[in-house]
Amino acid sequence: MVNNRNQEGMPEGTTRTVGRDAQRMNIAVAYAVGSAVRTTLGPKGMDKMLVSDLGDVIITNDGATILEEMNLEHPAGKLVVEVAKAQDKEVGDGTTTAAAIAGDLLKNASELLDQNIHASTIVKGYKMASQKAVSLLPEIAEKISIQDEENLNKIAAVSLGSKSAGVGNSKEFLAKLVVDAITMVAEESNGTIEVDTDQIKLEKKDGGSTGNTSLIKGIVIDKEMVHSGMPKNIKDAKVLLMDVALEIDKPETDAKIEITSPSQLSAFLKQEEEMLKEMVEKIEKSGANVLFCQKGIDDVAQHFLAKKNISAVRRVKKSDLEKLSKATGAKIITSFDDIAETDLGLAGNVNEKKIGGEAMIFVENCLNPKSVTLFIRGGSEHVVNEVERAIKDAIGSVTSAVEVGYYVSGGGSTEIEIAERLRLYARETGGREQLAIEAFAKSLEIIPKTLAESAGMDLIDTVVSLRAKHNENLKWHGVDVYEGKITDMKALGIIEPMKTKRQAISSASEAAEMILRIDDVIASKVKPQMPSGMPDY
Ligand code: ADP
Ligand code: MG
Repeated sequence: MVNNRNQEGMPEGTTRTVGRDAQRMNIAVAYAVGSAVRTTLGPKGMDKMLVSDLGDVIITNDGATILEEMNLEHPAGKLVVEVAKAQDKEVGDGTTTAAAIAGDLLKNASELLDQNIHASTIVKGYKMASQKAVSLLPEIAEKISIQDEENLNKIAAVSLGSKSAGVGNSKEFLAKLVVDAITMVAEESNGTIEVDTDQIKLEKKDGGSTGNTSLIKGIVIDKEMVHSGMPKNIKDAKVLLMDVALEIDKPETDAKIEITSPSQLSAFLKQEEEMLKEMVEKIEKSGANVLFCQKGIDDVAQHFLAKKNISAVRRVKKSDLEKLSKATGAKIITSFDDIAETDLGLAGNVNEKKIGGEAMIFVENCLNPKSVTLFIRGGSEHVVNEVERAIKDAIGSVTSAVEVGYYVSGGGSTEIEIAERLRLYARETGGREQLAIEAFAKSLEIIPKTLAESAGMDLIDTVVSLRAKHNENLKWHGVDVYEGKITDMKALGIIEPMKTKRQAISSASEAAEMILRIDDVIASKVKPQMPSGMPDY
């Protein structure tokens, strides 16, 4: 490491690493980060326990969560975290895959650099390989539609199944809930399916078991009715949504109201009461019997509402109000003067229920709900949180499948097939890029290798037999981690959306290219941590 401190007029404490040293350091860090999450891959992957500096504990198998919680300081490590984040945002699943491929692309690049192949040649080869891989994917993929519940259930189950045990055991049950939720909120326009995943609300409460998780055709709100005298179980509810307060605007802080006699005070209060009463009457006139208000509701107004048998909830989150609007068809009212009957929404049932000792409001059986809730339960907070992370991945996965309309087979089969096809492409390409394309192909094989490793299988044997199968045109053959053998993954029901693979390959490649292009690291005060040696696969 070259330390040119001060010589170049840089501030005290600044470190500078240039040339091959910079590349070596960045590659080692990125590889170490990829390896750290890699062991969680697949249903037999291990979990990680993350402890924050405040002592909070998270037990997870979710790549994006692990990387985010690792709080990496090294810039190259951060780039790998970015890959996982991009994957998480674009697809929701496949984060570990993306980070593992990125790490391996760099490890294999390092070997090429040692053979004096210039970084820019590697970058060019990687770019060609990743574009080729992306174009090859549709050739080996199968079509899927939103009506294909059976395969969608499988996709969701694969996504859920590779999380911690608490989730894996209920994967079929949870998969169905996820697919049902997505089919309910999906909308078709011009022949394409769009799923606004924000319309699937995830609400969680620890207690019960994962098997008590339910799909509610409507919204669950973590609030209670404002007044104990209000009805708690409403059938055929006429729902009013408001984002204005049911309160009298208090004067500005520096304004003064001078009240000089008791009669003046009571007149003032009376007037306030009258105004609140009028507001409640306007609500009553519309025919509403349930009110969700984004702002506050004055005590006096609560009393009037209760007397008129109108149930009300206050300080509802704006996002919840929007979901209620989607679910019930109600408009969100912004002024008391324009409340009309046509602005009301409908819900078959609105109930306040006690869940785990706390009141929650269930707005259910909405007509044609375009907004639904998955109400997650589980033995402990850790389980509930992991179920939530798994469900998020599964929602992303199924959404990608229905939006893009293609799926591929899992268990490393797709990676092997693409790797073999890339090797052909490498030969056609020739030149120095050929070596980089071959290195790219080898990097994709990190996925079947890692799955084989998690199942206690021999890595070399597995890859060699997989390649042989794929050369016999058995493109679905991958690693069955439960049986510890090579088999047809599609027949086994291990399928994944094509988008997950496409995004993982292209974002891993982009990160590797970006890191390889760096030959100068100028850091103010950051001390790079050199990870220990790289294991050889
Ligand atoms: P990611 O964050 O990349 O989604 P996961 O831990 O979810 O990581 O693992 C996904 C990988 O596990 C995929 O390659 C998928 O094909 C594989 N996988 C999932 N279930 C099985 C299974 N039953 N047998 C073999 N491989 C599986
Ligand atoms: Mg996954």
